[in-house]
Amino acid sequence: MKNSNSKITNIEIEYYQVPLDEVLNDAMHGDHTHFELILCRITCQDGYHGVGYTYTGGKGGKAIYSLLEDELKPFLMNENANRIEYLNDQMGWHLHYVGRGGLVSFAISAVDIALWDIRCKRLNQPLWCVAGGASNKTKAYAGGIDLNFSEEKLLTNISNYLDNGFNAVKIKVGSPDYRTDVARIAAVRNLLGKDRKFMIDANYSLSVEQAIKLANAVEQYDITWFEEPTIPDDYQGFGRIADSINIPTAMGENLHTIYEFGYAIAQAKLSYLQPDASNIGGITGWLKVAALAQANNLTVCSHGMHELHVSLMASQPHAGFLEVHSFPIDRYTKTPLKLIEGLAVAPQDAGHGVIFDMDLLGPHRINI
Ligand SMILES: [Mg+2]
Repeated sequence: MKNSNSKITNIEIEYYQVPLDEVLNDAMHGDHTHFELILCRITCQDGYHGVGYTYTGGKGGKAIYSLLEDELKPFLMNENANRIEYLNDQMGWHLHYVGRGGLVSFAISAVDIALWDIRCKRLNQPLWCVAGGASNKTKAYAGGIDLNFSEEKLLTNISNYLDNGFNAVKIKVGSPDYRTDVARIAAVRNLLGKDRKFMIDANYSLSVEQAIKLANAVEQYDITWFEEPTIPDDYQGFGRIADSINIPTAMGENLHTIYEFGYAIAQAKLSYLQPDASNIGGITGWLKVAALAQANNLTVCSHGMHELHVSLMASQPHAGFLEVHSFPIDRYTKTPLKLIEGLAVAPQDAGHGVIFDMDLLGPHRINI
């Protein structure tokens, strides 16, 4: 393969706002009415083409669009698309002074995912094979965004997940009165029975002391993990929580550099790492966190964009559970997520397998 054939000759950036079917709410982000999607289409001189993307919960997407359009696009033109890990590193240094994570990591992710799409297509292999090849299936859970749901509606929502083939679910916690959370957790465990997996997620809304109080009050309900009990920056606070409760802890969606994961592993006493390829530097960043998890005898999981993470999770021997997120990005692709006997199945097509259906997604594009 000649490097000159892999020269990046065209980059297109697109911005979308996709409405949700209903308002979804958690303890810290308030009401979600839509999500943003920022696409990065890269074409090489020899005609190979890849699509990358990142998403937000509804805010900040236009700034990510600008980082891609105004900063990274000119930086990447004429570079060799095969040098993915190098380009990922160089993009980080190019914007280091205003980055070191944050929005810049989202923008780098969109580019990186497009380059991996091209890499897999050149190899004529699906992503799950190229990224590690452990399996083409992975355990999965339904991640509800449901703090605003009445208990009755919460239970109906959980029943729908079970009807759709899930055997593991997560609900939001962080209600103003912790006894409300305890009652909801008890009701959901009662509905699930004793054998299904059950996780809870406070979206970093609690103090260390509140988190310990809630965890100890629901210990009897066999919670697989307590996600983001307190602010993601307080690694030592996470450590104090882990020392005081009998439920494993998890985080990762708000850690946007490999260094943040390193500090978290050293101090936060986590059991599950949850990197999100949309904000940890793409597939390259996600795989670095997966390697870090393995080296520290931890389980790697994922947050959001399940249509892509299904391939990454399946590829890893130490994978835990794929989050099937309540932002249904896969509904706007030609390959919606498939579950077989509770396991999510990775696409088999060459490339990363996320092929947007422009008839469905196109109407939500906004020109900026
Ligand atoms: Mg979460």
